[in-house]
Amino acid sequence: MRVVPLELGRIEAGLGIITGEQGTVSLPIAGWLIDHPEGLVLFDNGMHPGLQHDTTRLGRTIDSFEPDYHPGEEVSARLTQRGIRPDDVDLMIFSHLHFDHAGGTGELPDARLVVQRAEWEAGHDQRLIDYGIYDPVDYDHGHEVEQVDGRHDVFGDGRVVCLPTPGHTAGHQALRVELDSGPVVLTGDCVYFERMLNEMLVPGFGYDTDLQRQSMEGLRELRDGGCRLIYGHDAEQFKSLGPDGLA
Ligand SMILES: [Zn+2]
Repeated sequence: MRVVPLELGRIEAGLGIITGEQGTVSLPIAGWLIDHPEGLVLFDNGMHPGLQHDTTRLGRTIDSFEPDYHPGEEVSARLTQRGIRPDDVDLMIFSHLHFDHAGGTGELPDARLVVQRAEWEAGHDQRLIDYGIYDPVDYDHGHEVEQVDGRHDVFGDGRVVCLPTPGHTAGHQALRVELDSGPVVLTGDCVYFERMLNEMLVPGFGYDTDLQRQSMEGLRELRDGGCRLIYGHDAEQFKSLGPDGLA
């Protein structure tokens, strides 16, 4: 098995909202392909291709996060560039349903979705939709949806396991993958980039910052125990993984 990174554009973000620091940062938007013998998995799928031309529906979000996203960077194109047909993806697992993680769902017609129940419910909470935190246009395309509660062993063999890491959102989860080289955990937005974990920088926004701190501490324990963490938006680490990722 491999964990292969797909770069699905970038967003320009003000650091103030993330770490409380000055300046802006360019964050890679990632999808992660995992070729389990029983099915091709994609963990997160990037932004809606409509945002390549028109970002107005992001509303207030655009004040903090501006897409840098162009034709050929959407998930279906990235798969095709690798010789994979979009309908070859069997499972889409979501860290969470924000616009930069679930917006490519409509491009992968035959996949089953795997998401924490709390996240799917939050993504259909009209108040949160009205507030611009979620938009069903990103993820509601009539796919079969498997809502899971807590830790979930996706194939029943311990090789791909959902680990709840709530805080950034109500139903955020990380994904643990057992590679031949050892365990890897895709952190999603529980940790944007490594320095945030080293310095325990918890963003001031999100569903519950205390919960997020606890989830970050849990991931730090996994790292201390020998798990390799792959962060959600770490430009340097992302580059270091290379096009073929980890095996
Ligand atoms: Zn997010």
